[in-house]
Amino acid sequence: MRELTEAQIKTVEQAIAAQCGKTVLGNELLDHTCCAIEAYMEEGHSFDFAMSIAISTFGTNEMKKVSKQVKRTRRYYQLKKQPLGWITPMMAIGLLFIVVNVGAKDRPDRKPTDKDFRVSSAFGQRKDPFDKKTKMHLGIDIVTPTGTAIVATAEGMVEKVINDPDGYGIMVTLKHHEGYQTVYAQLSEAKVKVGDSVKKGQLIALSGSSGRSTAPHLHYEVIHNGKRVDPSQYFGEAK
Ligand SMILES: [Zn+2]
Repeated sequence: MRELTEAQIKTVEQAIAAQCGKTVLGNELLDHTCCAIEAYMEEGHSFDFAMSIAISTFGTNEMKKVSKQVKRTRRYYQLKKQPLGWITPMMAIGLLFIVVNVGAKDRPDRKPTDKDFRVSSAFGQRKDPFDKKTKMHLGIDIVTPTGTAIVATAEGMVEKVINDPDGYGIMVTLKHHEGYQTVYAQLSEAKVKVGDSVKKGQLIALSGSSGRSTAPHLHYEVIHNGKRVDPSQYFGEAK
């Protein structure tokens, strides 16, 4: 893993402070952001570019939401210390029902294509196809012929549509509920623009081989509260 220099970490700290102000997450946020930057640099991006993606994927709104969640959890545990006799079993079942249903709707729990395609590269450590060094792969690669319809894996809003010819090529980032974001990269064409709302399963782009790519495929990432997670663990949960 490439380690950031002291000066670079200071720069990241200042960028977070400028964007989010003082947060309850403090050092934890700095750690997450630095990890994301290092992982992006491992994929061949410059420090400046890696920082701009990392800071914006963990942007102001995300921060506010995470802070709120942390505060809510603290309040929950404070409440728990008090006698809960006033909560009737019916109310508890009702609450559980709401939580389970909202959660299920919000997760990116389907594949980003309608048809099934082979996964050529899984999430985690892998050999880079360009320089054969072992690197962290932040998403999964799905072998899709150029022009394959790529769909939103959860309801949300289009956060970014960018073109990075030396990295992810044409790339769409969606922002969902419950701290989730999804990234669709190496596209041939984006079919949405920043600010559009999208439904689960809605067409958002056509796949391709733009950017730093050896063959047509979709590079797909799931981010939860700023951390990359293995997208395949969510597949197959959708009804
Ligand atoms: Zn990839």
